[in-house]
Amino acid sequence: MDNCIFCKIIKGDIPAKIVYEDDFAIAFLDISPCTEGHTVVIPKQHFEKFTDMDEEDAGKLFASVNKVAKAVEKALNLEGSNIGLNNGKAAGQEVPHVHVHIIPRKEGDNGGAIQSIVKTYPKTDNLEELKEKIKESVK
Ligand code: 5GP
Ligand code: ZN
Repeated sequence: MDNCIFCKIIKGDIPAKIVYEDDFAIAFLDISPCTEGHTVVIPKQHFEKFTDMDEEDAGKLFASVNKVAKAVEKALNLEGSNIGLNNGKAAGQEVPHVHVHIIPRKEGDNGGAIQSIVKTYPKTDNLEELKEKIKESVK
C-alpha cells in the first residue's frame, strides 16, 4: 500500500528501529512507546485489520509475536508484558496495517490490565444466547 506508513517501513523508505525480521513479519520499536521497549510486530503483507487475515497468516504472525515477546522480556529483564492489538478504528487502531503491540510491564508501574481498556457493564443474563450466536457464526 503506497500511502501506508508501516508498508514504508517494510520497504525501508522510512527508518525504524527493527529488532526482528523473517519472511512473513518484522518487529520494530514503537516511536511513541507506552513503556520502555514497546515493540510492534507486523506482517509484511498489508492487511488493514487482524480479522482480514486468514487463520494461517494469523498463526504465522503470532509465531513471530511469541518469539519477539520472549526476546523483549529477556533483554529488558521484564516481569511481564501486555500483548495485543487494536482491531479497527472503533477499537483505537490508528495505523491501518495490522500490528501487534508488545508492551513491557513491571510491578508497580501503575498500568492496568487489558480488561481496563473499556467497560460498558453489559447485562450478563443473556450469556447462553450470546454463546449460541457466536458459536453459529464460527466457520
Ligand atoms: P494503533 O493505535 O494503530 O494500534 O497504534 C499505532 C502505533 O504505531 C502507535 O503506538 C504509534 O506510536 C506507532 N507508530 C505510528 N507511526 C509510527 C512510525 O512511523 N514509526 C514507528 N516506529 N511507530 C509508529
Ligand atoms: Zn501497510
